[in-house]
Amino acid sequence: MRGSFRTLAATTSRVKSVTLPGGASSAAVSTRQVSTLGCLSEEHQMIREMSRQFAETELMPIAGDLDKDHRFPAEQIAAIGELGLMGVAVSDEYGGSGLDYLAYSIGLEEISRGCASTGVIMSVNNSLYCGPVEKFGTHAQKEEFLTPYARGEKLGCFGLSEPGNGSDAGAASTTARLEGDEWVINGTKAWITNAHDAHCAVVFATTDKDKKHRGISAFIIPTDTEGFSLGAKEDKLGIRASSTGNLIMEDVRVPMGNLLGQQGEGFKIAMMTLDAGRIGIASQALGIAQASIDISVKYASEREAFGAPIRKLYAIQHKISEMSCKLESARLLTWRAAVLKDRGEDFVKEAAMAKLCASEAATFCAHQAIQVLGGMGYVSDMPAERYYRDARITEIYEGTSEVQHLVIAGRLLAEADKTTCALPAAPSKEQDVEKLAA
Ligand SMILES: Cc1cc2nc3c(=O)[nH]c(=O)nc-3n(C[C@H](O)[C@H](O)[C@H](O)COP(=O)(O)OP(=O)(O)OC[C@H]3O[C@@H](n4cnc5c(N)ncnc54)[C@H](O)[C@@H]3O)c2cc1C
Repeated sequence: MRGSFRTLAATTSRVKSVTLPGGASSAAVSTRQVSTLGCLSEEHQMIREMSRQFAETELMPIAGDLDKDHRFPAEQIAAIGELGLMGVAVSDEYGGSGLDYLAYSIGLEEISRGCASTGVIMSVNNSLYCGPVEKFGTHAQKEEFLTPYARGEKLGCFGLSEPGNGSDAGAASTTARLEGDEWVINGTKAWITNAHDAHCAVVFATTDKDKKHRGISAFIIPTDTEGFSLGAKEDKLGIRASSTGNLIMEDVRVPMGNLLGQQGEGFKIAMMTLDAGRIGIASQALGIAQASIDISVKYASEREAFGAPIRKLYAIQHKISEMSCKLESARLLTWRAAVLKDRGEDFVKEAAMAKLCASEAATFCAHQAIQVLGGMGYVSDMPAERYYRDARITEIYEGTSEVQHLVIAGRLLAEADKTTCALPAAPSKEQDVEKLAA
């Protein structure tokens, strides 16, 4: 971890005047003191400062234009790669920064605060593409399909959803059959983030239909393979600087060695990848929520009504208080999920809770930011309307909020079944009758 962090630390010279907590240098810092709890390591603080300053200098000034033009931030993604943020938790042996998931969460929040589109591009490459290739790939696969991606030289995407199924991911209709020493893949993957900019995709396809979800396998497919094409770019409500579209595979042939993990292991790989990915989307949502609070505080301090800044009004203070309570609690949930993952402990329920609460916090904060800004919240001269549009997707991708509730309740009830219950037993019918008689 240290070795690769030195590389990251060295790159912070790109951004001047790194200020650690206690020596706040920007207005945004003051709204975030509580969340640090004074317990972040020096490395985590540096990641935060480096990512924050990059976001403030390189992303915030252009995020509105990127959104309007639906333009992929190619230069900025390359720079983020140079900073070591495209493979934060990937081992340095394979081009990553060798840091942990908490560092990833902190970095991604800051990048998303500057531009949520850039945040999702970074998130998909880190957790949905590099994540499964590192965990399930062979050494040869990692050398070819992980190192350049973790370094930020190439971009990856993740193809699970299909036109006919999203939440019900086990119903994949894309197929893969073995012909000689090649896999032949046919089908269409829908809604794929980074589709139009990716060099490689992790794709899930059915290799044995009778086994249902146990018959799904994962494949690594370079996007320049013959038979591989893209659908039109989706015209989206938000995160418009990231590309989204269909991956269309017509007799796409890849070598046997492009199978990721074991045959039939694909559904497990997809679910494990999404569990970790949810920490990323939670972090993206935190960034949007934080940006919404920042703009609200700034505007409320400058805008005057009835002879005084509107921040003096109780109604505005109440909104800012509610926003920050939701954000801070979601951040703690997100960091808890990241820390559990870093410790090698079960984090599935916690990641679902983090994603659910952080996405709700982002939607709430962005909604309230528009209200604080009044008319200025509704026009694109100010970023609040973009935050509002960007926030909405965090409640949908990598498992909708309804699916997160299923995961949380499922885990919680299973845990409850394993624990001896200390509550008194419910009274029997005979006892009820005795009571009534008395
Ligand atoms: C911008 C964008 C980017 C995306 N990026 C990717 C990507 O990179 N890779 C990828 O594979 N996919 C991606 N997706 C797909 C995304 O993950 C799915 O849209 C999402 O999982 C929901 O699936 P669906 O759209 O088919 O909705 P459906 O599954 O049809 O759900 C419709 C509604 O029914 C509810 N519902 C469904 N099942 C249940 C249930 N069992 N209990 C309760 N409610 C339920 C849902 O919560 C939702 O409200 C992306 C989507 C978008 C919009």
